Amino acid sequence: MVWSQLSRSWRHVGPLTNNLKSCGTRCVSTSGSGTRGTPEAQMADVPGGINFNITQDQKEILDLAEKFAREEMIPVAAEYDKTGAYPWPVIKKAHELGLMNLHIPEKYGGMGLGTLDGCLVTEKISYGCTGIGTALEANGLGSMPIMLAGNEEQKKKYLTRLIEEPIMCAYCVTEPGAGSDVAGAKTKAEKKGDDWVINGQKMWITNGGVANYYFVLARTNPDPKASASKAFTGFIVDADTPGVNPGRKEINMGQRASDTRGISFEDVVVPKENVLIGEGAGFKVAMGAFDNTRPPVASGAVGLAQRALDEATKYAAERKTFGTAIMNHQAVAFMLADMAMGIESARLCYMKAAWMADNGTRNTYMASIAKCLAGDVANKCATDAVQIFGGNGFNTEYPVEKLMRDAKIYQIYEGTAQIQRMIISREWFNKAKETLI
Ligand SMILES: Cc1cc2nc3c(=O)[nH]c(=O)nc-3n(C[C@H](O)[C@H](O)[C@H](O)COP(=O)(O)OP(=O)(O)OC[C@H]3O[C@@H](n4cnc5c(N)ncnc54)[C@H](O)[C@@H]3O)c2cc1C
Repeated sequence: MVWSQLSRSWRHVGPLTNNLKSCGTRCVSTSGSGTRGTPEAQMADVPGGINFNITQDQKEILDLAEKFAREEMIPVAAEYDKTGAYPWPVIKKAHELGLMNLHIPEKYGGMGLGTLDGCLVTEKISYGCTGIGTALEANGLGSMPIMLAGNEEQKKKYLTRLIEEPIMCAYCVTEPGAGSDVAGAKTKAEKKGDDWVINGQKMWITNGGVANYYFVLARTNPDPKASASKAFTGFIVDADTPGVNPGRKEINMGQRASDTRGISFEDVVVPKENVLIGEGAGFKVAMGAFDNTRPPVASGAVGLAQRALDEATKYAAERKTFGTAIMNHQAVAFMLADMAMGIESARLCYMKAAWMADNGTRNTYMASIAKCLAGDVANKCATDAVQIFGGNGFNTEYPVEKLMRDAKIYQIYEGTAQIQRMIISREWFNKAKETLI
C-alpha cells in the first residue's frame, strides 16, 4: 500500500495529545496557560507519562521510509554524490509515496503530522543518504515561516502547492557577509506604493536553484540602530519573479546531491500580500522556524550516525587481523560502543525536542541540545567508522568516506555548533538564575 493511500486513515492523535488543539506543526494546550514560564511549568499542562512504543500507523510509515531508503536511495547515493546532479527522480518518487512535506496540515492537502513523526521518518531517510535527504527535507525549512506566520490565503496558496506537485521551496536568510550574525543581513526591501522592492544577495541557499518559491528575510528599517526584532520583514517570493537570479551550484565537501546556491535579488517586486504577518516581524519569524526545524536536522544527523555504526559493525565482524575479527579487539569494540552511546543519547534528545514542539512547550533549549549533540555525534561516528575501515575507509569504493564528508555540515547549517552552545548556555543561565544563582 502506498503511503498516500495509508494517509487517509492517518490521524495524529495519541494518549498524550487528547487535550491538545492542533495548529499546524505545533499544538497549543486548550487549558489556556499558554507558552509562558519554564518548559517544566508548561509541561505541567500536558498529561504525564513516558512511552517509547510507536503506534501501528507510525510503524507503517517508518517501514515505508526504511524501504525507500534501502531500495531507492542507497543504490543511487554514490552516483549523485559523484555527479552532483539534483535527485529529481528520487524526489518525485518520495512525493508520490507521500514521504515529503509530512508537516503540512490536512486542511492544505497534507498529512498534518507532528514534528516527532517527521523526525522519525527523517532519521530513516537520512540513513539512505543525507545529501538526497537534505534536498528532500529542505521544504520543511522553506515552508516553516508560512506554517508559523502565514495567513489563510498564503497558506492555501503556498502550502497546498507543495502537496499537489513535487516542487521545492527554500529559506533565504544567510548572506555572504552574515550567517551566524543574522542581524547583520544587508538585503533590503523598500516600500513602493502597494509593493515592496527587494535588493540584495543571499548565500548558501539549499534548493536555491530548484525552488518554486522562497522565504526571504530583508531589512525594511534602514536605521542601523533599529533592533533586529523590528528591523526585518519576511517575504514569500515566487522564484519566477523578474530579478531573482540563482547563481551557480556550489561544489561542497559533502551532501553533494543537495543544491546549494547564492541568489541575487535585483529590484524584485513583491506584492504586499506576500508579507508574512507584517512589517518588522521578519526576524522573529525567521528565528522561530528553528525550534521546529532543528529537531528534524538532529534526526537526520542521527540517521547518518546509525549508518556509520552499522557499516562499521559489519566490517568489524568480517575483517580479520592477528587471527581474529577486528571487533574482538577491545579498542575497536569500544569505538563501536562509543558510537552506540552517542547515537542513543542524540536520538533521545531529538525525540524530546520534537515532543515539546508538538505539545506547545517552548523547546529552544532542547532543540539546540539535540541539534548540537547529534551534529557532533554524527561527525564522531563517521570519523570512527573510517578509522575502523582502515585504508579502505579512506577510499570512495567504501561507503564511509562519504558519511564523513556528509556529516560535517551538521555542525554548520541551521546554526553552527558554536551558536548552538551559545543558545544552550544562555537558556541554561536563564533557568539557573531562577533556581541556583
Ligand atoms: C550546505 C549549506 C547549506 C545551507 N543552507 C542554508 C539555507 O537553506 N538557508 C540559509 O539561510 N542558510 C543556509 N546555510 C548557511 C548556514 O546556516 C551558515 O553557513 C551558518 O549559519 C554559518 O554562517 P557563516 O557561514 O556565515 O559562518 P560565520 O557566521 O562567519 O561563522 C564562522 C565561524 O565563526 C564561529 N562564530 C561566529 N560567531 C560566533 C560567536 N558569536 N561565538 C563563537 N563562534 C562564533 C562560527 O561558529 C563558525 O565556526 C547553508 C550553509 C551550507 C554550507
